[in-house]
Amino acid sequence: MQYTSTRNNSINASSSFAIASGISSEGGLFVPTEIPRITDDFIESLVPMTYIERARAVLSLFLTDYTAEEIEKYTLGAYGTGFSSAEVAPTVPLGGELNILELWHGPTCAFKDMALQLLPYLLTGAAKRVSDGKETVILVATSGDTGKAALEGFKDVPGTRILVFYPENGVSPMQKLQMTAQTGNNVGVSAIYGNFDDAQTGVKRIFTDEKVKAKLAAHNMAFSSANSINWGRLVPQIVYYFSAYADMIKLKKTRNGEKVNFTVPTGNFGNILAAYYAREMGLPVNRLICASNANNVLTEFLTTGRYNRNRPFFTTVSPSMDILISSNLERLLYHLSGNDSETVKKLYSSLSATGEFTVDGAILDKIKEIFAAGFCDDTETKATIANVFKNGRYLCDTHTAVAVSVYKKYTAATGDTTPNVIASTASPFKFSKAVLEAVGDGKAMPSDEFEMVDALEKLTGTPAPSQLKALKGAPVRFEKTVKKDEMEGAVYALLGING
Ligand SMILES: *Cc1c(COP(=O)(O)O)cnc(C)c1O
Repeated sequence: MQYTSTRNNSINASSSFAIASGISSEGGLFVPTEIPRITDDFIESLVPMTYIERARAVLSLFLTDYTAEEIEKYTLGAYGTGFSSAEVAPTVPLGGELNILELWHGPTCAFKDMALQLLPYLLTGAAKRVSDGKETVILVATSGDTGKAALEGFKDVPGTRILVFYPENGVSPMQKLQMTAQTGNNVGVSAIYGNFDDAQTGVKRIFTDEKVKAKLAAHNMAFSSANSINWGRLVPQIVYYFSAYADMIKLKKTRNGEKVNFTVPTGNFGNILAAYYAREMGLPVNRLICASNANNVLTEFLTTGRYNRNRPFFTTVSPSMDILISSNLERLLYHLSGNDSETVKKLYSSLSATGEFTVDGAILDKIKEIFAAGFCDDTETKATIANVFKNGRYLCDTHTAVAVSVYKKYTAATGDTTPNVIASTASPFKFSKAVLEAVGDGKAMPSDEFEMVDALEKLTGTPAPSQLKALKGAPVRFEKTVKKDEMEGAVYALLGING
């Protein structure tokens, strides 16, 4: 299987090269030249399997230059012991069409672990083949959850260093502590003055800057990415859509061949894009419902074809979705334009020049056939958390609540009764303040983060993940905040090389 770039489709690369590089040298994203199709009995064969076995079956369709032994070893290392649920990513039926795919049982309590527990294996395996002994420097921009998940995945992995940038005021206190107290000898963390888009734009610029690359090469280092621009982030996420469908069969919520909907709380468009790939491979999917918070740039785009980032940026109670530039949308546009890198280049030069682009009618028609979209504000998010808890004693986090709220609006508007799976992306205890405000009795709020965790646990009878409770009193190691234009210097400082 070969990969090419969304901005230059004359490029041909192996999966190893795509994963080791992270981003293509001209700034495009790696995409498969052809999406593999599953055979008729593929899904049936997944039903009795464990998550690890399902992962092997799906991954081997895409990662054809990795050996079966490598994939076996990697999946066992990633999903064997690090998850607090034996099923890794269980599908929990709450009644009605609320089937919750819990993607947050990994070490950092967010769905990013599903990919970032595997990525270090994929990346070091790839680097052995294509990076001629260079140390891999992983550069990450995070809206909160990717940073911690990448730090946990890569800490003390030989041959790698990891540096994370997060927006100073754009993450929850728990997310911040998870990162600033990170242990490990190859890790670095810095806050920036700005929002996630600033962090992501800065990281992308550093990545593709030839001067910076040359400086790293002189120290026998090369960049790669653990953001969802890296193909190695996306492919592990395709797995759980197949796994959820197999679970829906097991739960007798659907029969093999019948379509389901997936509702996905969306920011950078990585999670829902993985669902798109699963659908293109032949997974029976009716609609992919894209759920946004008040930063509803995607709602507008998927319903009108106009992407316009010139709008106010809101800081919300679902911070991991506070994004106005959804980088993985580029991959969708590449596929929907008939693998046309010239079209993608035009759209993205318009985005950087004017902050917007509009796709043609043919692309919009395809989008509307596959996607539905909606958004909700913080008040609706909190009301949804309260409602889900009242009706089913089930505590969900703010991001998952956005998906539930948007799904309810979707069914009310369309009458669609297709069985539905909600991607649940984080533990509610990562966002204790907002969740406590939603389900609390209005009594005085504790001001300390860990007192909030305790209060939430007591009030709801839901146990908090031990990984989060263990952070109480953890020493903070990284306290620096830099300006946007100081990020390059911060990279050199964190790597201990001279700028
Ligand atoms: C990252 C994240 C999202 C958004 O996922 P994308 O792949 O960026 O669309 C949603 N919820 C949580 C909790 C996240 O960490």
